[in-house]
Amino acid sequence: MPKIRQHNVAAAQWQPNGTTMGTSDLTVQGNNPFGENVFGPQAQRVKLPKHVYRQLQAVIERGEQLDPALADAVASAMKDWALEKGATHFTHWFQPLTGSTAEKHDSFYMPIGDGTALAEFSGKELIQGEPDASSFPTGGIRATFEARGYTAWDPTSPAFILENPNGAVLCIPTAFASWTGEALDHKIPLLRSMEALAKSALRALRLFGDESAQRVFTTIGPEQEYFLIDEQYYYERPDLITTGRTLFGAKPPKGHELDDHYFGSIPERVLACMLETEMEMARVGIPIKTRHNEVAPAQYEIAPVFENSNVGSDHQQLCMQIMQNVARKYGLVCLLHEKPFAGVNGSGKHNNWSMGTDTGDNLLEPGDNPHDNLQFLFFCAAVLQAVNRHQGLLRASIASAGQDHRLGANEAPPAIISVFLGGELERVFEAIAAGETAASTPQSFLGLGTPVLPPLPLHGGDRNRTSPFAFTGNKFEFRALGSSASPSFTNTVLNTIAAQAIDDLCNDLEAALGSGKPLDEAVIAVVRKSYEANRQIVFGGDNYSDEWHAEAEQRGLLNLRTTPDALPEIISDESVSVFDTYAVLSEREVHSRYEVFLEQYIAKVNIEAETARDIARTMLLPAALRHLDVIEEAEMEELDEEMRPVVKDFWTAIKALEQANAGHPDTDTLSHAVYMRDTVLAAMNAVRELADQLEKLVADDLWPLPKYSEILFIK
Ligand code: ADP
Ligand code: MG
Repeated sequence: MPKIRQHNVAAAQWQPNGTTMGTSDLTVQGNNPFGENVFGPQAQRVKLPKHVYRQLQAVIERGEQLDPALADAVASAMKDWALEKGATHFTHWFQPLTGSTAEKHDSFYMPIGDGTALAEFSGKELIQGEPDASSFPTGGIRATFEARGYTAWDPTSPAFILENPNGAVLCIPTAFASWTGEALDHKIPLLRSMEALAKSALRALRLFGDESAQRVFTTIGPEQEYFLIDEQYYYERPDLITTGRTLFGAKPPKGHELDDHYFGSIPERVLACMLETEMEMARVGIPIKTRHNEVAPAQYEIAPVFENSNVGSDHQQLCMQIMQNVARKYGLVCLLHEKPFAGVNGSGKHNNWSMGTDTGDNLLEPGDNPHDNLQFLFFCAAVLQAVNRHQGLLRASIASAGQDHRLGANEAPPAIISVFLGGELERVFEAIAAGETAASTPQSFLGLGTPVLPPLPLHGGDRNRTSPFAFTGNKFEFRALGSSASPSFTNTVLNTIAAQAIDDLCNDLEAALGSGKPLDEAVIAVVRKSYEANRQIVFGGDNYSDEWHAEAEQRGLLNLRTTPDALPEIISDESVSVFDTYAVLSEREVHSRYEVFLEQYIAKVNIEAETARDIARTMLLPAALRHLDVIEEAEMEELDEEMRPVVKDFWTAIKALEQANAGHPDTDTLSHAVYMRDTVLAAMNAVRELADQLEKLVADDLWPLPKYSEILFIK
């Protein structure tokens, strides 16, 4: 048996390589570990003095300020709780602009001079940390001579314990800022944007006569797609190890055309891995609800119950980390890249988003009475207006090197942002725009009992899986995020632009009410005006079709195909102005993000290009040359004539790639990014195309990389 075949057999015979959880009956009370490693309300109630507990709850529920004097009490309780759980260290856990999370562990134990050590943890250590962290990207905000960055405790996202076979660490979610108070992370702007939206939405609610809601939260429930592959293949592929995606690989004879994987039964090893992953997530309080197979072979999806945007974003980051850690115990590797395999469906993240009050109302839920429905239409119109006005910024917020392989490729929404309302809701808005009132109420509509109001659909509307931004009954689903992305920046954008649109509509509503119009007429007038101005963003058809691309162009919608096209939208006047007006990001902070995102794009493409060069030249070219020897020895001229030109072209393409890699221009960052896209990526693609041809010609036992047909199908 050739070497590679033996590997496949080994890959198929998996064994857990760490402790597995065994079976436990989760229906028995006490067996369900949900939240056991979270310093949440329950643990706080047990551990904290009553008045401290109450104040902490007020901070969390109503966004009030925490009295620093209480921090000592919280810190001491948190430490006792963590020590009981076996934690020896704590870390301020934060989200630098790299898009991943960062931690620096400190021991609880301090030597006390007599040769022993005592566990200590003060309020000061809880509230503020000073990781050196000078190597994180700052986009020019921070010169290294003033490199001090501070982490600051976020009491609204509960601390949790991460376990490792050899110890446990208390993780404290924190914000990360420069010594000048500028945000160096993704959490601070997200919190600021939630504040901004809460203010605008409360203003609107008051106009609707709601005096009871004290707080509005944005909520997110991100559905995450990912691949699980056998670790053996992963470690045999330098491209996967270094870049997270395969830079080479011919299309396998079997893809997903049989649809035999989608929603199919989950392979045993994978299910075992999922169960433990979910158990680990439950421990740290991530409320996972759904799991299933996705479209591509070896692709899966996991989705939590929604939470407020801040906690939801923290949990999403943690979710990605836990998925990757647990997979290893099962001899699997979890791939979060947007496009690990060319020609095979990539992975995205669906960001379900809504707004809710502390009194339990979902502002994007059609109500069951005329008043609630007026309010629903108002908020819904505001979202349309926000998305239309800031389509470029939204598009930029999901841009990355990985996304450029996925968006618009008939598997993910196009780079054109549009909104799907569902046939029924769209008709309601159209009726309002046409000045029609509720003449007839079909069965599927909710009669509203007042002539000025159009009837509302009873159901969430039909499904449109191709839309990037779809109304799905009581929330909007932004489906165009990349699978590896942090959801924080996108949600910062969503909250900020929604806050602005709600404010704009409030201005109009106040004016209409001031002129003596009754509420229902005033709202309808405001909604009508807004919808008429923004209806170009509404599209209910097939977003993958060529017709839509043509129509979108006619409508004047943006179509920013690649990351270098999209990122400049972040620093457009409109974007800078809305971030600044709502105190979410200062102009300097906006520019720093733009720079960091561009630099990340350049770095990622460069790493791929260098890796592609190495593999092509030192692994694939030698294999092809060996195969030519075999042909020569066999004196098979015809085979030689077929193969030799491909090898020659391959060599030429490799040289061109080497040249592209060596020839980076010394220009501004944007031009550099454009060079990476137009010159480097193009050279890489040329190399790949020939390599994939060679994969189909070279003897299987000479080809040094595992093939798609193995990686994707052996589980
Ligand atoms: P569907 O399967 O139709 O997309 P689900 O109700 O299963 O809808 O929800 C899918 C995702 O949407 C889940 O992650 C869920 O938590 C999230 N979600 C549901 N309601 C909200 C909401 N109000 N705000 C944010 N996310 C939500
Ligand atoms: Mg969904």
